[in-house]
Amino acid sequence: MSNLRDLYQELVLDHGQNPRNNRAIDDCDHGKGCTHREGYNPLCGDKLTLYVKSDGKTLDDLCFEGSGCAIFTASSSMLTEVLKGKNIAEVREIMDEFLEMLTTGEKVPDPEGLGKLAVFGGVKDFPARVKCATLPWRALESILASEGQSEGTDDGAVDSNNDQTG
Ligand code: ZN
Repeated sequence: MSNLRDLYQELVLDHGQNPRNNRAIDDCDHGKGCTHREGYNPLCGDKLTLYVKSDGKTLDDLCFEGSGCAIFTASSSMLTEVLKGKNIAEVREIMDEFLEMLTTGEKVPDPEGLGKLAVFGGVKDFPARVKCATLPWRALESILASEGQSEGTDDGAVDSNNDQTG
């Protein structure tokens, strides 16, 4: 597993310092194919706004603005890099697998399914940092959940309170 650990440090350093898709979508109107969601992790102080542009089938654009620790920034950056352009079904699969890996700890990191996102599997050994890594994923989960419903009015913030960190 030492390779995975090296890769983790490399990726978190790289994406933490040079985050991809680190921008806002101007005029992001809820209900016009573009949704944004804010997230906050009080344990660490990470703040996030995640922007998703989708026709309901594909994530056409995905980007974020935020400030926080390297794990949070790297996780947000890699989320946008990996999921942008993918179809929603595929996105849900990767998202569920990622959250399961970090919150239940029952799933062994699967490089096949998660690709380089599997490097975050080690974060679950540091419960205080789990929310740093899951924050952007919870925001995406919240957006996708409201996509399925009729005209969403829920524009509230998420704080990833569902995560068991004890
Ligand atoms: Zn953090």
